[in-house]
Amino acid sequence: MTTTDLRVETKSSPAPARVRRGPALAVIALGAAAVVALWWRDTPHVVGPGGWLTGAGRITGLLAGYGLAVLLALMARVPALERGVGTDRLTRWHARGGRYVVWLAIAHTLLIIWGYAVTEATGVVDETVTMVLSYPDVLKATAAMALLVAVGAISVRAARRRLRYETWYHLHFYTYLATWLAFGHQLATGEEFAGHHVATACWYALYLGVAALLVRYRLWAPLALSLRHRLRVVTVVPEAPGVVSIYLYGRDLDRLRIEPGQFFRWRFLTRRLWWSANPYSLSAPPGTGTLRITVKDLGDHSAALARLRPGTRVLAEGPYGAFTAGLRCRERVLLIAGGVGITPLRALFETLPGQVTLIYRARSAEELVFRAELEEIAARRGARLLYCVGDRAVIGSPFTARELRRQVPDLRAHDVYLCGPPAMTGAASAALREAGVPARRIHHESFDF
Ligand SMILES: Cc1cc2nc3c(=O)[nH]c(=O)nc-3n(C[C@H](O)[C@H](O)[C@H](O)COP(=O)(O)OP(=O)(O)OC[C@H]3O[C@@H](n4cnc5c(N)ncnc54)[C@H](O)[C@@H]3O)c2cc1C
Repeated sequence: MTTTDLRVETKSSPAPARVRRGPALAVIALGAAAVVALWWRDTPHVVGPGGWLTGAGRITGLLAGYGLAVLLALMARVPALERGVGTDRLTRWHARGGRYVVWLAIAHTLLIIWGYAVTEATGVVDETVTMVLSYPDVLKATAAMALLVAVGAISVRAARRRLRYETWYHLHFYTYLATWLAFGHQLATGEEFAGHHVATACWYALYLGVAALLVRYRLWAPLALSLRHRLRVVTVVPEAPGVVSIYLYGRDLDRLRIEPGQFFRWRFLTRRLWWSANPYSLSAPPGTGTLRITVKDLGDHSAALARLRPGTRVLAEGPYGAFTAGLRCRERVLLIAGGVGITPLRALFETLPGQVTLIYRARSAEELVFRAELEEIAARRGARLLYCVGDRAVIGSPFTARELRRQVPDLRAHDVYLCGPPAMTGAASAALREAGVPARRIHHESFDF
């Protein structure tokens, strides 16, 4: 199968909605301010150390409750957020926010217990027992807290490294249970809600709104996509040692409004693979009924794809990712690919408007994927294609500011798209910065989030 089969005339449709980083963060910050305002409105004055401890406990509790809803919304795969902010950045916000929420929940628990104990002149242990056993929904909230701390603990980098990705991923689902267990006590014991119907209605709206997003985009959207487009494996083609391309056929693919540079999460319905949905970028612009991904065998899932049979049904979630033409703001564009990181850049190399240069880094010529296609595209659109081949031990690091300036005249006037192994993209990014390319014009897609 050649790439000419892959090119398609897309009907001109309005640009898909995207929410950029700035507005997204502003909405989150405004929500947090509104939550603290709830406490402020409800607290005309604070009396004594017990009052201050309890006050701090109420604020941290409100922020933890709000934060939990935001964390779930960030992972709801809302298309406008996925396209505008990007999955890797949303995942990083989620991970960092997760740490804050766990610490806020811990602080909330300790401060409330301490505050009540001081106010009621009782011991902390007695107060704890009273609260857990007699306050409405606090026993459930205690279980929620234990789950949150456990999920937080296994998400610490050191712990996560010891777990298989799938095990960590599925254990993470306990956050949904923790959210449900924690919800009741927020309204039952939260003074900001007792007798305040508007505040209570807003809190319900926040949580039910997030639940609706999760059902809409994490359950319904993938199901509807698969029913509508009926994706199947057409063929598997070896590309290089340990690298294969998988061609997929589907109906009405142009309705997916895929942008080159994006990825899907793919669930292949075989006995060994159905339970895992792994992200792979499209390695060519979407074609007339055809999609292509190209995969390097790095572990169980990626290695098993080489043995897929034609006709295998595929459930796909997406398209996701902000690594698209939407980021470009300059006429000149530099694409820097390393190893299998060539996949999204192969799709962009063909479609990005403007003057495009592609630097493709590989340890050996044998590892270069899509050579014929890249050279055909370069010739057809008058783009520059530079291979950077060789073992680092032999050629050193090709990504220095001096070398990049030599290879790419007027480097500073470029947008740069980077995708490859973390060590390579780290070195390239630092060299680009040193060469004067502003950080806002260095766009990076990570294959590890
Ligand atoms: C946005 C994005 C686009 C990608 N595009 C491509 C591509 O075009 N071609 C390609 O060869 N690889 C791509 N990858 C990487 C690919 O997803 C992983 O190599 C693959 O999932 C590894 O799974 P495994 O079971 O083979 O290996 P494992 O040993 O299980 O995992 C190796 C590493 O891959 C990551 N990983 C594993 N499973 C998942 C998952 N379900 N979701 C997210 N990360 C996971 C983990 O960080 C893990 O440490 C992409 C990754 C991302 C995030």
